Amino acid sequence: VVGYAGRKVAVLGLGRSGLATARALQAGGAEALLWDDSPEARAKAEAEGFPTVDLTRHGALEGVAVLVVSPGIPSLYPAPHRIIARAYGLGIPVDNDIGLFFRSFATKDWDGFDSTPRVVAVTGSNGKSTTTALIRHILAEAGRPVQMAGNIGRGVLDLDPAQDGQVVVLELSSYQTELARALTPDVAVFTNLSPDHLDRHGGMGGYFAAKRRLFAEGGPDRAVIGVDEGEGRYLADQLSGGPEDDRVIRVSSGTKLEGFGWAVFARKGFLAEWRKGRQVASIDLREISGLPGAHNHQNACCAYAACRTLGLGPREIEGALRSFAGLPHRSQLVAERGGVRFVNDSKATNVDSAAKALQAFEKIRWIAGGMGKEGGIAALAPHLGSVVKAYLIGHSAREFALQIGDLPHEICETMERAVARAAEEAEPGEVVLLAPAAASFDQYPNFEKRGEDFTARVREVLGQVAADAG
Ligand code: ADP
Repeated sequence: VVGYAGRKVAVLGLGRSGLATARALQAGGAEALLWDDSPEARAKAEAEGFPTVDLTRHGALEGVAVLVVSPGIPSLYPAPHRIIARAYGLGIPVDNDIGLFFRSFATKDWDGFDSTPRVVAVTGSNGKSTTTALIRHILAEAGRPVQMAGNIGRGVLDLDPAQDGQVVVLELSSYQTELARALTPDVAVFTNLSPDHLDRHGGMGGYFAAKRRLFAEGGPDRAVIGVDEGEGRYLADQLSGGPEDDRVIRVSSGTKLEGFGWAVFARKGFLAEWRKGRQVASIDLREISGLPGAHNHQNACCAYAACRTLGLGPREIEGALRSFAGLPHRSQLVAERGGVRFVNDSKATNVDSAAKALQAFEKIRWIAGGMGKEGGIAALAPHLGSVVKAYLIGHSAREFALQIGDLPHEICETMERAVARAAEEAEPGEVVLLAPAAASFDQYPNFEKRGEDFTARVREVLGQVAADAG
């Protein structure tokens, strides 16, 4: 990190990104004052050779040039962490690793980078990881040097030195964009918007505002914007000088967008690229196994558009879409036996992503529940037509049972029981789908562990069936 040599920088939160920040500050000659409320996190930092300083102590922030905060720590809603509140009171700028990254970049003097890479940043409610990983995959297949960081892959301050022509693809959550004091990607992607994390942003307006910061004045050269919701249409309109303006590429997962300077949309399983009133490319997405469902077609369109702005050709991108294996825990096929498919979408932690997963399949034995979000699954009612039966788990099982009305269901409590019951009852042609529409924290440390548990239980049950048959 440049610009802080000889100055004091306070770091709050010593997880992966906090420790990467500490290392980068040290390399840049700054004096890092590190703190985490958790004694375990502090012990881990100390073990890595980073002494900690009690920032809760009165006067601890004296002379500090900036306070760098981890994304998990609230800076505004429901209430700022007390160290952050104190920084506000003292007029000390509060930033995060993303802000430091962009600020160091803007000086074109980033330690270790021979040339300034192009930066693509992806935000939105759903599809960020898939879109980010897909962009990385397409660029890598095309032979472009590329690194992926942010909310996926490594921390931004952990990136390796760049080579010529390098692209850095960042996945940015609303927690990261809300605080970063500099956000200047070359290409910014907004996939979609649906209610999520509202408690941390003081409602939908704050959530949208956090994401929009990526597109502020003086922001990206090119913006790829999903326009299937009102917010995306508004954002695209705000950024463009008129429909012909091709700095904005509009993306839709179902609507034909012909009258614009540049648009990429999916319709009836095909991706179409239109420029200035003419179709310039088309790709059949239907047989691409790594990207099932309309929601993944939206992700494919976003990634396609971003890669086009970086100079890749449609055929090159098409080949790479075909070889994309998908990400674990996102509509991931984990087993198939006797005509029954077992699909892990543990990442469907909110109603919107669960709806997409439910739309991607027919005849579903649906495993759902966990730490329910506000409103539960009431909003899923229109998407339950393809569900044969629900197997409800976790804290929200009973609440969900009340909300799904007369749909057949069973309270299973645990993943083990849900998988066993669904596997027992599934008929050929059906899909056993984990798409919880809830967070995992009641039963698991994170959604990955939940998905791994599902996968392990499926293997167990299928192994048992095989053993019985043998
Ligand atoms: P994010 O990183 O934004 O959470 P992921 O790519 O990890 O997004 O996908 C999260 C969940 O949302 C998955 O369960 C997936 O099935 C669903 N999903 C993926 N892409 C989309 C999309 N474009 N729109 C709605 N839901 C999506």
